[in-house]
Amino acid sequence: MNTQHFWQAVLDRDPHYDGVFVYGVRSTGIYCRPTCPSRRPRPDNVVFFAQPAQAQAAGFRPCRRCAPDQPHAPDVEIARAACALIEAADGERLTLHELGERLHLSPFHVQRVFKRVMGVSPAQMIRQRRRERAKTALRQQPSVSAATYEAGYGSSSHFYTDSQAHFGMTPAAYQQGGAGMDMHYTVVECALGWMLVARTPRGICAVTFGDTSDALEAALRAEFPAAALQRADEDALLRGWSDVLRTYLAGGAPAALAALPLDMQGTAFQARIWQVLRDIPGGETRSYGEIARQIGQPTAARAVARACATNRIALLIPCHRVLREGGGLSGYRWGVERKAALLKREREGA
Ligand SMILES: [Zn+2]
Repeated sequence: MNTQHFWQAVLDRDPHYDGVFVYGVRSTGIYCRPTCPSRRPRPDNVVFFAQPAQAQAAGFRPCRRCAPDQPHAPDVEIARAACALIEAADGERLTLHELGERLHLSPFHVQRVFKRVMGVSPAQMIRQRRRERAKTALRQQPSVSAATYEAGYGSSSHFYTDSQAHFGMTPAAYQQGGAGMDMHYTVVECALGWMLVARTPRGICAVTFGDTSDALEAALRAEFPAAALQRADEDALLRGWSDVLRTYLAGGAPAALAALPLDMQGTAFQARIWQVLRDIPGGETRSYGEIARQIGQPTAARAVARACATNRIALLIPCHRVLREGGGLSGYRWGVERKAALLKREREGA
């Protein structure tokens, strides 16, 4: 089992890994977040789990100091609070200093935590919000508040606050064929044929479907020719996560899917679309045009279609829930039959 990464993260108390895994200590029967301030255990006593529930099922109790069974790490809470303030500022000027003051934290700390959790700095987020506001206000004359309501900003705030997913604003690594990316993957059989699940240290970076295991591996290598790829069928996280996905495909409840950590690599626009897709409930569908209107860019239906077509994380970014105007299935990167099967299963299971 390849757990070197995770053990190093435990030694470093690396906050990037908070939410990616928990570790149990056999000698004490307690499990912790990677960032737990407690003394480091001996490596041969440690066992890794993808989810707190799995640690509990294996008989471990949550640590009182780092509370790994609580849904959010303090960092995520800080990032959420900062997002809420940025949101509430409604495009008004808001400095990092003010943000720190309102949160009773040093500006430096807010900056660091925010960047780590959100993938962008508070200043970048504030600028982006201002641009969005300005555009919306210009396009839709009557009133800014009506315009923002129209554009669905009430629900787009989920984008910033309602997700544990990480995303990169600059897809540099992706554009360079995954140079510098360290990826582990597994291939398993599922209700839709073969499924490949890949992860970086930050979370799931690809879920793909195919007819053979070889074809899936070849496609991954073709897409990330410069990445360090390693097949790791015994990897504890990959096993746990692919089980969650398989269970869902076999008719299981969708709740567990939302908890899986994602490492989405894409432009700000793609990340935005992917996040909107994640808010479409199972059993429902949207058209490309509806999504374009929802983000306040009603003419961007084709760009939305492209963002769907370039999604690499099937199911968890449910691009299968987007249909052509008028309800036509249109394409699906992993085959229209699979798209039809997924939608049928979700309609019946919802
Ligand atoms: Zn702990």
